[in-house]
Amino acid sequence: MTAASLAGLSALPGCAGARSRRYDLDADVRHIPVIRARTDRIDRITVCLRPFRASGPRLGVEQVGRKSVVHNYGHGGSGWSLSWGTAQLAVERAVTASGQKVGVIGCGAIGLTTAIVAQQAGAQVTIYAREMPPFVRSARASGSWTPASRIAKTSDLTPEFTARWERMARYSFSCYQNLQGLPGNPVEWDTFYGLQARARRPVPPDPIGFAEMNDRLRDIEPQGNTIPVHDGRLPYDEVRKQPNLIFNVTTYTDYLMRQFFERGGKIRTMTLHHPSELTALPEPVFINCTGYGARALWNDQSIIPIRGQIAWLIPQPEALFSMEYDNVYVVSRRDGIVVQWQGEDMGHGYNRTDETPDLDEAHKGVSIINGLYKGMGYNV
Ligand SMILES: Cc1cc2nc3c(=O)[nH]c(=O)nc-3n(C[C@H](O)[C@H](O)[C@H](O)COP(=O)(O)OP(=O)(O)OC[C@H]3O[C@@H](n4cnc5c(N)ncnc54)[C@H](O)[C@@H]3O)c2cc1C
Repeated sequence: MTAASLAGLSALPGCAGARSRRYDLDADVRHIPVIRARTDRIDRITVCLRPFRASGPRLGVEQVGRKSVVHNYGHGGSGWSLSWGTAQLAVERAVTASGQKVGVIGCGAIGLTTAIVAQQAGAQVTIYAREMPPFVRSARASGSWTPASRIAKTSDLTPEFTARWERMARYSFSCYQNLQGLPGNPVEWDTFYGLQARARRPVPPDPIGFAEMNDRLRDIEPQGNTIPVHDGRLPYDEVRKQPNLIFNVTTYTDYLMRQFFERGGKIRTMTLHHPSELTALPEPVFINCTGYGARALWNDQSIIPIRGQIAWLIPQPEALFSMEYDNVYVVSRRDGIVVQWQGEDMGHGYNRTDETPDLDEAHKGVSIINGLYKGMGYNV
């Protein structure tokens, strides 16, 4: 078909109709999915302590008597996101022969993935842990791809750490793409809406100086668009719309547990009070994935807790998406709707060990989102 005949076709009524039906998905930001953000729909409030280390996660090897211990803890606000990559690094240091017995201490995001990667490398693995899912701190995460969240301080970054972090992040990201489409959707993409409130507030300051490294992953992460909103009736005037990789932590943990058991894994519930107790266990090699628990067990004072709280709303599978508005982060997951008020600045929760739910903070986040929908004309 020639260019001239193509031009002729476009003049036909049917083709003109086709052109008018063309629809710019990114421009559709006047309507965002609606969740029923009401304080009487909060079904639980959870609190978790991010295990933050200024120099990044600890991955060194240490001897305890005749046992080798590979550390794998201190992943701040990025534990789920970095899990497969950090597991790969730890297992490289721990597993030297097929059939080797390996003990993994901890059954959170890091322990479970480390145990599976060790099995993939041919090891026979036993997990030793005080808490199992859903009672581990990892179960209380927002569940998003956030590989550089509270992972280190800019002042403590070294080229070695930055390169190691990038390797972890890239490997984890590739693993997550292979976990999509599974029954129950443990991992999936949703759409994130970053709504810029019309009554703008300054960007929250960062008194801690957290490292920002996301730019290094630009080539692998799908990007979005920033779209102006020309409708003065709406409470926001600009929207950042982009894909967001999320983890439905309940189904995802169930998937990981089944993978571990199918490969012959064993779990023993136990609390370790001192590293020397490892000498009484049969494995010659351990991988220490105790998260914030490493502060007490390994007397590692370099771990700083960063408290984070989530108010959970009753799930709405008809409205799966994520957004940020007026410093409140929302992830509407299949297993619950995360509403997280992020505080007045980036230091919110820093060095706080209190894991008691704060009802006022929970109501604050939900009320801000309620106000957003009210401003859009919805009575949720
Ligand atoms: C509000 C909030 C939101 C978050 N959102 C995200 C997010 O969206 N994406 C993301 O990637 N990360 C997020 N995180 C961070 C993430 O939750 C952590 O990085 C992650 O939970 C750390 O996992 P872990 O396996 O190291 O520790 P844990 O989950 O705490 O697991 C530690 C394991 O070690 C065991 N253990 C500890 N001490 C002992 C001991 N003495 N003896 C025996 N066993 C022991 C525990 O019982 C447990 O089984 C968030 C954190 C918070 C607080």
